[in-house]
Amino acid sequence: MARAYPFRALRCSTAPHSLPEAVVLESGAQKTAIQPAVPGAASRGVAVARYGPAVSGAVRAVRCGPAVLAALAAVTALAQNPIPQPPPVPAPPNQSQAPIQPPTPRPYVVVLDPAHGGTNTGARLERDLLEKTVTLSLAHRLAAALRARGISVVMIRDRDVDVPDMQRAEIANHARADACLTLHATATGSGVHLFTSSLGPTSSAEFLPWQTAQSAWVTRSLRMEAEIDTAFSHTSIHATMGQAAIEPLDHLTCPAVAVELAPEEATPGVGGYAISDPAYQKSVVQALTDAIQAWRKDWTRP
Ligand SMILES: [Zn+2]
Repeated sequence: MARAYPFRALRCSTAPHSLPEAVVLESGAQKTAIQPAVPGAASRGVAVARYGPAVSGAVRAVRCGPAVLAALAAVTALAQNPIPQPPPVPAPPNQSQAPIQPPTPRPYVVVLDPAHGGTNTGARLERDLLEKTVTLSLAHRLAAALRARGISVVMIRDRDVDVPDMQRAEIANHARADACLTLHATATGSGVHLFTSSLGPTSSAEFLPWQTAQSAWVTRSLRMEAEIDTAFSHTSIHATMGQAAIEPLDHLTCPAVAVELAPEEATPGVGGYAISDPAYQKSVVQALTDAIQAWRKDWTRP
């Protein structure tokens, strides 16, 4: 080598015409191989220039032909006047670096439990009207009205089949309902009868005895019952509130109210309604829908 260059070529194999076939440049821990695409100083110069920005710092050339030395001189120039590089593109975030997304809010779920069904006909309300038919019809209408307001509904039964009480409770509890309405109908009394469990309230516990699971929820059930009563107070339908041991209320782990529909007795100035009266059922569904929507705003999940 006649001239000293600030390069160091680690390998410099020499072809028959004395031009190197490959040069490996080293700068610190970084090594860059230069493989000329075609013989000739110009192409080598291009190759070095192409790899040049990867090489920086003091390197030295050893036993290289003049074409490589010229190319390495280009590397030096590049190292001293580096080509502006585009800003680094951030690597796509991996799983551990991804921002934590807030969990999708659980939808507000209402469980509708049309009592009776199948061979369990319930009460005979009118000559050709069975309770199981009225409760199912009411549930279908109420489900449609709630869904129209964007509320998720789970029907414990959607056809004429009986569902054991334990299974009704299991379905409601599995749905993690925000409200459960058990629907009944009766030929006696007047208006709408609202019932909550007769269990006394207890504080919430992680493990609740099956038979008295509602006790941890009965306070909230009473609040929801009051909400329903308020909705009916805005109608001409009379509503009463009470507590009773009605299946499957005691086993439910959610706010739960039994709604029993009775004929509406005529009062001075207001005509009575038969249970089968479509206008009456429509008014009941409207009031219950309003109540459930109001409960959605007032209800806070524990
Ligand atoms: Zn019943």
